[in-house]
Amino acid sequence: METKLLGGSSADVSAAAELIKNGFVVGIPTETVYGLGADALNEQAVTAVFAAKCRPADNPLIVHIADFSQAVNYARDIPELAYKLAEKFCPGPLTMILPKKDIIPSVTSGGLDTVGIRVPSHEVMHRIIVESGCPIAAPSANLSGLPSPTCAIHVMDDMNGRIAAVLDGGSSEYGVESTVISFEGEDTVRILRPGAVTREMLLEVCREVNIDPAVLKELDAEAVAASPGMKYVHYSPKAKVVVVEGNTADFKKFVSQNSGENVYSLIYGMESDDFEYNYMTYGDTAEEQAHFLFQRLRELDDAGAEIVYVRTPSKEGVGLAVYNRLIRAAGFEVIRV
Ligand code: AMP
Ligand code: MG
Repeated sequence: METKLLGGSSADVSAAAELIKNGFVVGIPTETVYGLGADALNEQAVTAVFAAKCRPADNPLIVHIADFSQAVNYARDIPELAYKLAEKFCPGPLTMILPKKDIIPSVTSGGLDTVGIRVPSHEVMHRIIVESGCPIAAPSANLSGLPSPTCAIHVMDDMNGRIAAVLDGGSSEYGVESTVISFEGEDTVRILRPGAVTREMLLEVCREVNIDPAVLKELDAEAVAASPGMKYVHYSPKAKVVVVEGNTADFKKFVSQNSGENVYSLIYGMESDDFEYNYMTYGDTAEEQAHFLFQRLRELDDAGAEIVYVRTPSKEGVGLAVYNRLIRAAGFEVIRV
């Protein structure tokens, strides 16, 4: 299949919407990462999404809608708290797990009786939902296991020949996928996957915000993942990634003892001045690190890196999302120095 690269013109956006309406799969921009969009109610189209990504069938897709008021068409028993959260965080990078209505095919929900609902804020994505008239199932547009794509070229790198088109809408603002939450009683939620809507932000609306154990560590083999996507090694470049916990001085000392031709470090921007070994930077703030992480992991592969030592991010705010992605990219290999 030839994969068309569409630009951001009005005609191109309409062309992408038309393809999705007709059951094709299209790479589309969102404010989190690029998605592989398809009509969430069309089983064949959704099956094609799983095939294009080589995604395990038990890993459910998030359904994207234009306005949270439409959630009632796809979900049952929506708690009051969901509406309060929607008021504050929709549109935006928040996915709420809700009991699904029968209209959502089982392929879309990975066989679960729940569905993840999100209202994206990216203007182009919003227009595609409205123009196609479909709720859009859109997992990240990477081949399963690889770093998520944050620009159209990354999608082309993974999906050329596998899907109908990719729509270029510029680089993704946040750079990490949405925060995924489930509901636990009247005023409590659980973070299944951290993102740009942080625990601190959720606490402005919820009395309690629990963090699922799978966010910060590898689940035991026999444990059932609340969010199936969290059980896989994920987001990994070809290079072996190792997260190194410790301060700047200890990190430098560690790298000096473990350097080599194809060994790279991924460090904070402000640490690069006198860094004597191969490196790339991924920003200083948690927001910058989220924005650049996946892009840098792909660039490190392009540079021929075989081992990447990553200076651990702060786990505060969006940093928790960065850390959550990194430990999976590292296959949970974290070294304390
Ligand atoms: P991605 O599509 O790549 O953004 O990944 C979607 C994430 O949301 C995965 O970690 C899924 O396991 C999770 N997810 C989607 N739907 C559900 C659901 N119904 N219940 C729990 N987790 C979900
Ligand atoms: Mg993904």
